[in-house]
Amino acid sequence: MTVSGTPIGDRVLCVTAERIQHVMRSGDTVARLSGDEFLVLLEDIARPADAASAAQKLLDVMREPHEEDGQPLSLTASIGISMTSEGEGDTATLVKNADSALYHAKHSGRNNFQFYTPELTTAAVERLTVGAELRQAIQENQFEVWYQPQWYLSDDTFFGAEALVRWRHPERGLVAPDAFIPIAEEQGLIGTIGNIVLETACADMRRWLDAGLRLKKIAVNVAGAQWREPHTLGTVQRMIERYRLRGDHLELEITESTIMAHTEQTLGLMDSLKGLGVSISVDDFGTGYSSLSYLKRLPIDRLKIDRSFVMDLPGDSSDEAIVRAVIALGRSLNLRVLAEGVETVEQQHFLARAGCDEAQGYLVSAPMPAAEFQQFMRRRGGRRDGTSG
Ligand code: C2E
Ligand code: MG
Ligand code: MG
Repeated sequence: MTVSGTPIGDRVLCVTAERIQHVMRSGDTVARLSGDEFLVLLEDIARPADAASAAQKLLDVMREPHEEDGQPLSLTASIGISMTSEGEGDTATLVKNADSALYHAKHSGRNNFQFYTPELTTAAVERLTVGAELRQAIQENQFEVWYQPQWYLSDDTFFGAEALVRWRHPERGLVAPDAFIPIAEEQGLIGTIGNIVLETACADMRRWLDAGLRLKKIAVNVAGAQWREPHTLGTVQRMIERYRLRGDHLELEITESTIMAHTEQTLGLMDSLKGLGVSISVDDFGTGYSSLSYLKRLPIDRLKIDRSFVMDLPGDSSDEAIVRAVIALGRSLNLRVLAEGVETVEQQHFLARAGCDEAQGYLVSAPMPAAEFQQFMRRRGGRRDGTSG
């Protein structure tokens, strides 16, 4: 800002300082370094993406319209970001790196932020772009829920399906959840998306029950943030009522890592859901380090063996041992065990012989759009091989 030093310039600096303060949290430090240069110190930043969000907020607030003496003034900022971990690096280097990042920002057309490391900038911009697009996707309902059948290994009959979200992006086409769920979590959008998936799954289940499809339950993935959110119980209850389902028509999946980091709130929520008749399964099981005594205390019904342990069955002796151990664990705790990612007959035989209860995977079908799933279930008459009986 070349106006500093004039009365207008001073007022603009005050406005700038106010705007910066407005978006910062109470523990952050803001200082004016020189002329029109400010230094903002954010502590407890977990990821570069969080620094990028803060920078984007600053850029947005700076761009808000401002008038001096009845004249509209347009203010913009350039931001340089450098990060360090506790106990690493020194203050002087941190400030020097931020300054060189700022230089980049000014030479990249201003009104943007740059990290000291260019790779971080690219990644952060990509995440912010996807975040903005996700907000739009929520507005325009660009999400689809696909379904993957689950079957009993004992008699080859289907009993349910897992609901898996997909994003129909206007330019990029169908986007898989791994490409946007982590960003939705980071940007606080996962609750809204999770609710869309839950409602869609409940509505589809209602239609399928009305259509006479033999389906016992539908499983819905619930993210860590939703398990910590007090509204989740009410939301689930409302969906069950709205679509006239029984609690046991619904199964909610919690990942092993969320279970490991559970709070009292999560436990309370799990208990209340059980009270509604909703069952709970542990997704990605085997990737964390749950102990027996730990699992025994939790109100869960099913363990889902992660695909990574199923992939190299049979033959990989350590995966064979892990899968057998999980099945034994399930037995002793009275939990059902489902194997994910079953792609071959050999895997299915191994699992059935080892005493695994249920399976899900490409051997039968990849996840499919709702209409296709309905046709599939009709064609197969509830049996995996399609024979009746
Ligand atoms: P997940 O819950 O463990 O889902 C299983 C994933 O394995 C799905 O990937 C499914 O398509 C894939 N899969 C199933 N059978 C096979 C197989 O035989 N072979 C192989 N190679 N893959 C198989 P998808 O649909 O891409 O979902 C990825 C992850 O995204 C899910 O893992 C889940 O963690 C997350 N996710 C999906 N939908 C939602 C949602 O609505 N909410 C939340 N919070 N997370 C979701
Ligand atoms: Mg799952
Ligand atoms: Mg899984």
